[in-house]
Amino acid sequence: MDTLIKVLVKENFAPERILPDAPMSRYTTFRVGGKADVLVNIASAKEISIALTAARKAGVPVTVIGNGSNLIVRDGGIRGLVLRICGSFSEIQRDGDVITAQSGALISACAQFALREGLDGLAELAGIPGTIGGGVIMNAGSYGGELSQVVTRVDAVSFHTGEPRTYTGDALGFGYRTSALMHEDIVVTGVTMQLRTGDPDAIRARMDDLARQRREKQPLEYPSAGSTFKRPEGLFAAKLIDDCGLRGMRIGGAQVSAKHAGFIVNTGDATAEDILNLMAIVRKRVLDDTGVLLDPEVRILGEDA
Ligand SMILES: Cc1cc2nc3c(=O)[nH]c(=O)nc-3n(C[C@H](O)[C@H](O)[C@H](O)COP(=O)(O)OP(=O)(O)OC[C@H]3O[C@@H](n4cnc5c(N)ncnc54)[C@H](O)[C@@H]3O)c2cc1C
Repeated sequence: MDTLIKVLVKENFAPERILPDAPMSRYTTFRVGGKADVLVNIASAKEISIALTAARKAGVPVTVIGNGSNLIVRDGGIRGLVLRICGSFSEIQRDGDVITAQSGALISACAQFALREGLDGLAELAGIPGTIGGGVIMNAGSYGGELSQVVTRVDAVSFHTGEPRTYTGDALGFGYRTSALMHEDIVVTGVTMQLRTGDPDAIRARMDDLARQRREKQPLEYPSAGSTFKRPEGLFAAKLIDDCGLRGMRIGGAQVSAKHAGFIVNTGDATAEDILNLMAIVRKRVLDDTGVLLDPEVRILGEDA
């Protein structure tokens, strides 16, 4: 990793944002995961380009993360370079009813921006704790809204060549909690959304109401990655898990939430292994008892310890 760090420094990447042996538990909402060899906090498009060039020169693999709110990083951590794009590189601009956000902007910040501008289309998504970059990869959605309903264009760069790429229409390949972008080796840099003029008071009231519903129903007091499994067609993962008597089940510090069986939570000292073992037991029991195979919604990265 020394070569990688040397190239980053030589190319003027801000040294304070190059973090060797970065504990991924600090960069994921589940608060688990081993160390990344090197993590860089990205603040500009130029830095994305420098980081990708440095990784190519050093011959190390690249992983991109946003807010880490849909991730389980295994306990052995991540080899190579992690580009973290969250919080910085987060400008949002308006042009008529269209807004364009840099990929590090939080979905909540995009929704607040739209509200201030009197634009509707993101109110249902305001409580999703990810970035807009991670959001388009996952086609994040809630309460009947989904990014696919508003996203018209995604700008990205290729891991391998650093070339810019633009995705529109069918090339976005959006489906339920998935997109074609998920299978491309790209860094999402910008997301363009077509919104519509709305009544700010009505938008704010809907956002407040949905935030209240989240607080009431979801175990937000514990670290998690949101819904562990996707919703099987016509069914609810949480109900299936509950009906199998798994609510509250624990392995180590991981627990099927007693408040919402669709969430696995970290009660304090969970390891990624605890969470993955609990997921495996839940999947097997639900399959044995109901015949339904649950598909994980969370993305799993890194190596075992
Ligand atoms: C309490 C809680 C509630 C949640 N509620 C919801 C919900 O209602 N609906 C919902 O859909 N999700 C929900 N989630 C899950 C999560 O917030 C979403 O999936 C979100 O879109 C992930 O964004 P992120 O920035 O955290 O991405 P990460 O988790 O960091 O990454 C997700 C995926 O995107 C990739 N990625 C991230 N950024 C980029 C980028 N710039 N370029 C290329 N690839 C990138 C990563 O490699 C990874 O494969 C919830 C999570 C929590 C903790």
